Amino acid sequence: MTATYRLHLGDESCTVRAASPEAAKRKAAQVFADRRHGIIERRRNRQSGTTVLLIDSALVPGEYDEAGGRWQTFCEDHGSICSHESRRVAVDFLAEPADWCPGCTEIVDG
Ligand SMILES: [Zn+2]
Repeated sequence: MTATYRLHLGDESCTVRAASPEAAKRKAAQVFADRRHGIIERRRNRQSGTTVLLIDSALVPGEYDEAGGRWQTFCEDHGSICSHESRRVAVDFLAEPADWCPGCTEIVDG
């Protein structure tokens, strides 16, 4: 059974849903590590089965190429990244990695 846990690291905190306190700790460690790279969402994509990330590059100035927009989608399995002008557009792309990641295109097209 999953429950909601609130975890802290120094001054930071995050809320995660997990099946046990141990799983919650692992998830929170990932969230805290992701924040260092501007990663605000991490999910397994239904279309390709890969892990895709939503990144707000404004949180980590200089770490990403923002020429195509502040918001980045990143396929962790294939290393593909795509820039977007708005968060809404980025979220749409996050659900369809086959549209912007060549590796995911191969998986989806077979
Ligand atoms: Zn991919």
